Amino acid sequence: MQGDAFLKCIDPDCGMEYPIESTNVQCEKGHLLDVKYKHTPSENLKEVFYDRRNSQGNIFNESGVWRFRELLNFCQVDTENIEECSKFLVSLDGAEGRLSKPYHMGKASEFVGISNDNLWLQPEGYNPSGSFKDNGMATAVTHAKMVGAKKIVCASTGNTSASAGMFAANEGINCDVYIPAGQIAPGKLSQAYQFGAQILEIDGNFDDALKQSLDDAQNHDGYTVNSVNPFRIEGQKTIPFRALEYLNWEAPDWIVYPGGALGNTSSCGKALMELYEWGWIKKIPRIAVINSEGASTLSDLYNGKFEGEELRWNKGKPNTELITRYYDDLDAKGIRPKTKATAIQIGRPANILKGLRALEFTNGVATTVSDSEMLDGMSVVGLNGFDCEMASGASVVGVKKLMSEGVIKKDDTVVGILTGRQKDAMLPVDYHHDPSNKFAKPPKN
Ligand SMILES: [Zn+2]
Repeated sequence: MQGDAFLKCIDPDCGMEYPIESTNVQCEKGHLLDVKYKHTPSENLKEVFYDRRNSQGNIFNESGVWRFRELLNFCQVDTENIEECSKFLVSLDGAEGRLSKPYHMGKASEFVGISNDNLWLQPEGYNPSGSFKDNGMATAVTHAKMVGAKKIVCASTGNTSASAGMFAANEGINCDVYIPAGQIAPGKLSQAYQFGAQILEIDGNFDDALKQSLDDAQNHDGYTVNSVNPFRIEGQKTIPFRALEYLNWEAPDWIVYPGGALGNTSSCGKALMELYEWGWIKKIPRIAVINSEGASTLSDLYNGKFEGEELRWNKGKPNTELITRYYDDLDAKGIRPKTKATAIQIGRPANILKGLRALEFTNGVATTVSDSEMLDGMSVVGLNGFDCEMASGASVVGVKKLMSEGVIKKDDTVVGILTGRQKDAMLPVDYHHDPSNKFAKPPKN
């Protein structure tokens, strides 16, 4: 299978290609890249994936990411040869994605107002570092290892740094985490510290920290593991793969994600494009992206709330100048993204173009929810015995909102992704101390 995988620019008019060993995250003209495969995987693999759920001691079968390794085989390994897999594929002993699958959660369905049979929620917080990032980090660090990188780098204030730090420590490589100086509560980085990552404080804001980390990667032998890295997107495809497999590859009507940097939206879109092209699914689920009201770039632009134009992928010719003007306008007005759901507190989603492509392919929608709504969503998930972070609450209340608007119909089947587990201990404590909150159970004395 050598020569099967390569990188290709997402802009259809450009389409520059690079060898799979390339560490570019952009083409020469600054467009994002996709990992592409020349061959069409056999549909018989559905059975292989199912059989691997009985892992027989093989960690690459146990892994919820590498169980689907034929669909992300950019290393071009012999996927049935465990020695070869062990040499190339990076895994936290098979734990990434292992506990992730969709569940019915009765109290959440009742709150949303949908039949319990029609709503599935898939917790990604049970990944080893506590969020969905481990799906994509397994593949990104695999590629880092494949190209001989000695150090991975990212800009992050939370989940990405935790995941990168954990994988780096496991692989015995270095990890640099760039953050804006003085703006991040040290507690948010506690996992990165714990895993021995080197924190670098940069004067400026988060965008400056990201710029510096990309520069470090380019000029100082670092390897970028933020979601602009196309190999991150490959691993995150397994989130919808696991959901679809659980539903016997019968596509739901909707897949719902909280919207931050839009890496998840992008990877879900790419997964669905590939599965549909191969004939593995007959129907294309619609993607719904739920922004926070305080960090609503995608929703604003997609819904025509800036200059009255509805931003679209437009078959590969998106109006990127509209995006630039939107960012300039935010800067001019001094508007910074602001939400307590820090995982999606992102004003400039790095994957916005891939996200738009995903929405166009799936006839998707974007909307916003408030912080207090997200806290309700987070809390009702907890009442079912599942743990999730505040940003994940957006998936639950996003479905509720879209149902109230008639966008999601009562008999639609919906899969909502719960992106991470609770890492901010005080959020539930504060929520439950305030009796005016919908699900609050204040302490008694
Ligand atoms: Zn290009």
